[in-house]
Amino acid sequence: MVYRRTLRREVACTGIGLHSGRPVRLRLIPAPAEHGIRFVRTDVGVEIPATLGHIGSQDHATTLNRDGVSIGTVEHLLAALAGLGIDDVRVEVDGPEVPVLDGSAAPFVILLHEAGLRPLAVQRQLLRVLRTVEVVHGAKSARLVPCDHFEISYAIGFDHPLLRHQALALRLTPRSFSEQLAPARTFGFLREVELLRKSGLALGGSLENAVVIGETGVLNNKLRFEDEFVRHKMLDAVGDLALLGHPLLGRFEASRAGHALHAAVAHKLIATPEAFELAPAGAAVREPLPLVAPALVPRRA
Ligand SMILES: [Zn+2]
Repeated sequence: MVYRRTLRREVACTGIGLHSGRPVRLRLIPAPAEHGIRFVRTDVGVEIPATLGHIGSQDHATTLNRDGVSIGTVEHLLAALAGLGIDDVRVEVDGPEVPVLDGSAAPFVILLHEAGLRPLAVQRQLLRVLRTVEVVHGAKSARLVPCDHFEISYAIGFDHPLLRHQALALRLTPRSFSEQLAPARTFGFLREVELLRKSGLALGGSLENAVVIGETGVLNNKLRFEDEFVRHKMLDAVGDLALLGHPLLGRFEASRAGHALHAAVAHKLIATPEAFELAPAGAAVREPLPLVAPALVPRRA
């Protein structure tokens, strides 16, 4: 993928917002090279670029803000766009939140396949990590490490018998993203659902769009992967890291992290000029190394 890519044609879908519970219509529209990914709140006429500088709240989802207007739960759509290597798209939404659909990125991947991809006449610039940057908050950590590919190594641990520890490492390609991460659904604990609803969140949440974890097991019929939870965290990371605005050449290692930490380490990278460079795609990508699974790095504080 040497050249920037947009969509071949416009596509649309309708669904409800996970937190607002309100119906929203989403349109994905081809855009010229260097446009980047931009959300447009058509109901209020405000355009919000999908960049780190526009991050607002990161409470259970990533929200982007501009001039007091926000667009919520952008991370699964951003993950699908970044995961498939799509650089330039105008995203129109007629409400405050991207539809949650089934709680994963799979419906967006299907929608993007329906749109088809079109290369643009401008080379991609990759964000190559040159030095490790790290953010640690108690037992939570996230770091970006130099690597000739985009890789993610993620470990989670929750105070729940089902989720004491899950870890996975993956080299990201459009295929591995689509097959291994995109179908993984968002999840929540039953004991927290009531609290979330009291604070006006998860109003659209149901077993149709989230995995709900009760005291003894999962309330949904079955999981899509045995380790669906850590896969969803990796999917969230792909979406949050897409806010860097360039495809990443580096390994993201996280333990017990979440949206805020994903963004914090991305901010730290950009604030450390000697830790990264922009390199044209093609020049930066060397011959693929023999396929060896990257080491799991489930670090714990
Ligand atoms: Zn998510």
